[in-house]
Amino acid sequence: MEKPFEIVILSGKGGTGKTSITASFAALAENAVFADCDVDAADLHLLLSPVIVHQEKFASGAKAEIDNEKCTACGLCLELCRFNAIEAEDEIYTIDEYACEGCGLCVEACPYAAITIEKYENNNIYFSNCRFGPMIYGKLGIAEENSGKLVSQIRQYTKETALKNKSGLIITDGPPGIGCPAISSVTGADIVIAITEPTLSGWHDLQRLMEMIGRFHTPVQVIINKYDLNEDMTNTIENRLKSQNIPVIGKIPYDDAMVYALLESKTIIETEPQSEITHELNNIWKILTSIIYESKKSI
Ligand code: SF4
Ligand code: SF4
Repeated sequence: MEKPFEIVILSGKGGTGKTSITASFAALAENAVFADCDVDAADLHLLLSPVIVHQEKFASGAKAEIDNEKCTACGLCLELCRFNAIEAEDEIYTIDEYACEGCGLCVEACPYAAITIEKYENNNIYFSNCRFGPMIYGKLGIAEENSGKLVSQIRQYTKETALKNKSGLIITDGPPGIGCPAISSVTGADIVIAITEPTLSGWHDLQRLMEMIGRFHTPVQVIINKYDLNEDMTNTIENRLKSQNIPVIGKIPYDDAMVYALLESKTIIETEPQSEITHELNNIWKILTSIIYESKKSI
């Protein structure tokens, strides 16, 4: 079975319409599997209303703990910990759980076996079915920071599900921004669709996003959402992208119908099949389908 083609939808910041566009692609796709990797604020499920069939805990880190009954206050762990996570006061040794990186060195080094390490299983991964197909999504636990690892795990499960279901396509709603989770969602993807808006800050966010994606040499196409709110800025963005050889795959107009669809937990493809936005999304999808077809032909 050939590797499924993965489209990742990203944006330089939140609130650009990324999730509504991803959900619309889900409505247009056939035999695809969907992933929501926006683990800090997963909301694709609000639009796709999936039914959870299975869920599991995911440990993204580990924290060490000292048993003061066993500790002889020899000080070795304090000396060794390069994250300065170990504190000593009046010969009582403790570990700062926020500073501990769970490397395990102190556990190995303690001559009195006074330190243990526990995995933190605060994160959840959900396996579900929505009306368009299987969907995997995750939620980062409170105070958990390692969302990059969670994103990688969700993508891995999504690939496995696609292979099991003989689906040739994965559509991933990626995290906004250019941090660790966004980086984890780009590595190994076949194409990134970057969503932006026609504002100066939108352009700056997009530029930063392009720089990040460029490091992985992943092909990228841009969608300008609500393009008609500032057509001058839309033209400027298009021209600047053209000079960088970055294609604009589509321009979506502003329409309240997008918000109303969201309020109904539906995609605009379902609520307003004759709208200009639906027409444009269909055009974009046709272009994407031919890119996927050409890419599979060349394998
Ligand atoms: S190395 Fe072990 S015994 Fe020594 S201070 Fe640390 S916890 Fe206590
Ligand atoms: S597990 Fe590593 S980071 Fe945590 S306290 Fe021990 S040595 Fe420091």
